[in-house]
Amino acid sequence: MKKETICVQAGYESGNGEPRVLPIYQSTTYSYDSSEELAKLFDLTKDGHMYSRISNPTVAAVEKKVAELEGGVGAMMTSSGQAASLISVINITSSGENFLCFSNLYGGTTNLFAVTMKKLGIEARFIDYGMSDEEIEALIDDKTTLLFSETISNPSLEVLDIERYAKLAHKNGIPLIVDNTFATPILCRPFEFGADIVVHSTSKYMDGHAEVVGGMIVDSGNFDWKDYPSLTRPDESYHGVIYTEQFGNAAYITKARTQLMRDLGSTPSPFSAFLLNNGLETLHLRMERHSENALAVARHLKEHKKVAWVNYPGLEDDKNHALAEKYLYKGYSSGVVSFGTVNGKKGAAAFMDNLKMARICVHVADLRTCVLHPASTTHRQLTDEQLESAGIKPEFIRFSTGIENIEDIIADIDQALEYV
Ligand SMILES: *Cc1c(COP(=O)(O)O)cnc(C)c1O
Repeated sequence: MKKETICVQAGYESGNGEPRVLPIYQSTTYSYDSSEELAKLFDLTKDGHMYSRISNPTVAAVEKKVAELEGGVGAMMTSSGQAASLISVINITSSGENFLCFSNLYGGTTNLFAVTMKKLGIEARFIDYGMSDEEIEALIDDKTTLLFSETISNPSLEVLDIERYAKLAHKNGIPLIVDNTFATPILCRPFEFGADIVVHSTSKYMDGHAEVVGGMIVDSGNFDWKDYPSLTRPDESYHGVIYTEQFGNAAYITKARTQLMRDLGSTPSPFSAFLLNNGLETLHLRMERHSENALAVARHLKEHKKVAWVNYPGLEDDKNHALAEKYLYKGYSSGVVSFGTVNGKKGAAAFMDNLKMARICVHVADLRTCVLHPASTTHRQLTDEQLESAGIKPEFIRFSTGIENIEDIIADIDQALEYV
């Protein structure tokens, strides 16, 4: 099926006389006729649900839809994007090991990796797009487990050269993990360019309505885990199962669920999965409209005398334009535009405070136009140095373009810019 059809149809099939719409299975547990039947589930020799901390039919339907959208062999939904990022790393990284990640990642991810991971004995080694392959390789040793990146970085809007970094990672025997939150599989399917694992904050465009926090991990099934003992050696906590032997190319995503979801319990509720599914049904329509509206906003801002600079990969003269053309469907660059007003931080505040339709929100990437000043809010916990390497200036405004009529969005921008 094509991606538009997957959005609408995949994950749930209704049988004769059954509900046409994905039902919410609001049940923690599942009943069986015999202990032996249930034992098969514990042995992982039979598919099925035993306890909703680990899996649930409503959640499973949405996982199947997202796996199909990304072109992966399996997916696991989590209670938040943060949980997805955490599990994607610690599924193959232990205390005493390290991993590479880009310095332009979402601020929450940067905190998780630089601060909390460190307390777990895991070292994040930060790299940036300016570094040569040799400089990056100098940071890789035999304890390096993966490279973590974002397709379109939040909020600096840099587009990842996926093929380059997939090649570099594979040459060094490690997988490339891509946070595909801003692009979504509608604009980019990172597996097609060599990425191995995709993670999402589904709280953004995938839900799209700003209703439910959630995350997703998707496994391409393509990476060879031969040098990862946690996947090729018996798991003591699961009576000696060897994931690569029993689950083949679904080893990574199976371990994430049977070991880490079991132990950490960052489980999404069936109702959250139901709402996410509703969002996914229109994702293809929304991503196109978000991208068209954002390009119009970026072009308009670019010509405005109260605006100092604009970043949007869809603009022909943007430094990320060539990468956007290569990796993003039709060059569509999603709904987020970043720009700076004249008059620095004060100018930015005057603009924000005078918007009428667009609201100030921490959230980003949903159908209502909203704005944020990252330096004083989401990225407030970062040091000046971290801010700079994340590409965040004092006057930086993150403008999340919604799917309203473009004339109304621009009228609101214009009247607010008069106060700058
Ligand atoms: C929001 C976000 C996250 C964190 O996701 P939550 O669902 O808020 O936990 C991770 N990565 C990116 C790119 C994000 O925008």
